[in-house]
Amino acid sequence: MKVVTSIDQVRQQVKAWRQSGASIGLVPTMGFLHEGHQSLMAAAKEQNQKVIVTIFVNPIQFAPNEDLASYPRDLERDKIACQQMGVDLIFCPTASEMYEAHFNSYVDVNGLTEALCGKKRPGHFKGVCTVVTKLFNITQPDRAYFGQKDAQQLAVIKRMVCDLNVDIEIIGCPIVREADGLAKSSRNSYLSATEREAATCLYRAIQCAGEMIAQGERSVDVIAGAMQAIINAEPLAKIDYIEFVDMASFNAIDSLKQDSLCALAVYIGKTRLIDNFIYQPS
Ligand code: AMP
Repeated sequence: MKVVTSIDQVRQQVKAWRQSGASIGLVPTMGFLHEGHQSLMAAAKEQNQKVIVTIFVNPIQFAPNEDLASYPRDLERDKIACQQMGVDLIFCPTASEMYEAHFNSYVDVNGLTEALCGKKRPGHFKGVCTVVTKLFNITQPDRAYFGQKDAQQLAVIKRMVCDLNVDIEIIGCPIVREADGLAKSSRNSYLSATEREAATCLYRAIQCAGEMIAQGERSVDVIAGAMQAIINAEPLAKIDYIEFVDMASFNAIDSLKQDSLCALAVYIGKTRLIDNFIYQPS
């Protein structure tokens, strides 16, 4: 497994692979890797001859009040996690390698980015789409892998690739969870022991919604109300949003129908966690 920090080194390797006819799968990450990331690598490994993992905490997707400086980093551990999965190349650039001094071009997807996390984190998806476009151009993969954990990000990337005729297949992978249901996240490392316990309220709320839906409830107000009650009962939790949207438009909906997304963001202490489920009756 090669570990490189310069764009030129990636281009050289990609060129050699392309000449030999190898297909390439890309897994973009911000590092501090866990089994969620590794599930993306496993899917990439299965479907491509070569797998590239990028590890880059992208400064332009963080607002000034967010956790860029404290975001967890451990490259040595990440290398082991990638090695275990048979990754061929890690690209872990510095911020200055990715953004030269006069950098001034951005990719901005409208519509889908105006709801949920896009509303709460202005500029976030512009930063994500810009860095993902750059990573696509640098690594030129056949396929790129993203987690359903970040459902809005996955939808926005799919929209961008379609709108801009990017010839890369976008593959969404299911959410990987801890034994108690908490979605795996690099940010879980911020949680104290009591916060970690409290953080289960997101999945408990999702499970409650699932039970209500199984019993025939379809009203978003009723389901969201029950979810809110579970989370509000947790003193360390503060709801950022719980919303039900149509997966195609990300417009809010009143009652569940095929391909509705329920997404939630909840602060546990100072840590903001997200989770979601899709309602697909058939
Ligand atoms: P991040 O390093 O948090 O930017 O995540 C990199 C990629 O891994 C994104 O496509 C995420 O959606 C995906 N990912 C993160 N956590 C999980 C998880 N628990 N299950 C599946 N995919 C995940």
